[in-house]
Amino acid sequence: MIDLKTFEVWFVTGSQHLYGEETLKKVAGHSQQIAKSLNDDKQIAVRIVFKPTVKSTEEIYAVCQEANTTKNCIGIIAWMHTFSPAKMWIGGLKILQKPIMHLHTQFNRDIPWNSIDMDFMNLNQSAHGDREFGFIMSRMRLNRKVVVGHWQDEEVLSQINAWSRVAAGWHDWQGAKFVRFGDNMRFVAVTDGDKVEAELKFGYSVNTHGIGDLVKVINEISDKETDQLVAEYVEKYAVVATLQKSGAQYNSLREAAKIELGLFAFLKDGNFKGFTDTFEDLHGMVQLPGIAAQRLMGHGYGFAGEGDWKTAALVRAMKVMGSGLKGGNSFMEDYTYHFDPQNQMVLGSHMLEICESIADGKAKCEIHPLGIGGKADPVRLVFNVAGGPALNASVIDMGNRFRLLVNEVEAVAPEHDLPKLPVARVLWKPYPDMKTGCAAWILAGGAHHTCYSQNLTAAHLEDFAEMAGIEYVLIDKDTKIHQLKKELRWSEVYYK
Ligand code: MN
Repeated sequence: MIDLKTFEVWFVTGSQHLYGEETLKKVAGHSQQIAKSLNDDKQIAVRIVFKPTVKSTEEIYAVCQEANTTKNCIGIIAWMHTFSPAKMWIGGLKILQKPIMHLHTQFNRDIPWNSIDMDFMNLNQSAHGDREFGFIMSRMRLNRKVVVGHWQDEEVLSQINAWSRVAAGWHDWQGAKFVRFGDNMRFVAVTDGDKVEAELKFGYSVNTHGIGDLVKVINEISDKETDQLVAEYVEKYAVVATLQKSGAQYNSLREAAKIELGLFAFLKDGNFKGFTDTFEDLHGMVQLPGIAAQRLMGHGYGFAGEGDWKTAALVRAMKVMGSGLKGGNSFMEDYTYHFDPQNQMVLGSHMLEICESIADGKAKCEIHPLGIGGKADPVRLVFNVAGGPALNASVIDMGNRFRLLVNEVEAVAPEHDLPKLPVARVLWKPYPDMKTGCAAWILAGGAHHTCYSQNLTAAHLEDFAEMAGIEYVLIDKDTKIHQLKKELRWSEVYYK
């Protein structure tokens, strides 16, 4: 999986020469201490790197330029310990291409009631120094995250962690390549969109390869590699008898392993971070990739079915953001409803391709016919998903803008066995309630495909939309349809 410790967030403190060397020395010492404490904090997943205090237009410009060109720098945390006249920041902020967090903190947590004097006040003046800095970013219409509180406050640390994870996901998209095997599912609207605009806005590119290019790689996979992967399947999953060595469909399991190895080789060779396929274009493939897509997602690749490149890219970004956290992120589809008035919920699944990272316990490895695609029966992992808080996220192309839509949900542990439904599946209840949640989703144009997350919150995705500079619509406990309709209409004007 993705190691977030390879990424740096720079801790930059602003000041000026007005205060003299003595004060600036203290400022530098305090900043170093804060940066070190953030870097040492166990919950913050990236490295926090101290940068010397910036005191002039030139120094500010230089640090922003350096941040832009430093490969592993994924963002800047800025703090004005004293007062840093903000016209000095215009040039730097104008060229800064990395996400920025404004940490509105103070070195001293408490006012020292008995000893406080004007020297103390002049050193600890972020209460107004940060307001000057806030103004210039508002004046420049810059998106940023504002976090308020003492730097040792648990909530502040958790916000810094969340934002840093999101910055890593955003960084991962820049220059990322996604491959589509075949085009979109014919006639489908919501999964399609403007790939040129996406590359401009999001930084990733999406290109197609004919399925034959992949089939060629699959056919070159050796028997030895195939045997090794089959052995891994048998060890890791509860493989049904027919797929075992003595079983009638053992060759299908070997074929599935070859598909996984071929896909993996293709992705690795082309430096791709994710892929899409479609059941309408499988010429030369023996089966539709089932277990292959499920496991490659488990390794951190983005995936979505039917050519849905926007969701494949989103799955990848969310996997980076959630790296190392308990729970998983998966391609998902709202499939079927349970409209029992006392217990309304959604059954989420796909034909095959739900990521194993969200499985509750050991998955079963099974083989069953697939009604579409006209290929041999595909091997797939079958599992349930545990209850608990989760969310669904979807990126859609509104023509004049992209919209990131998020619905918080409560997953429900399964009460029934579903013996005739041999796919991975999840049950959830949308917030604020089934009818409002679904109506809001429909009104906002959300796709049937989503990324389902167990370990990210709406706050992560809000930060992500800010970094991308796209519209963000949240459906949560407080959503009211009449208010949401107005929000959508007002946003229409904003993005005109
Ligand atoms: Mn689908």
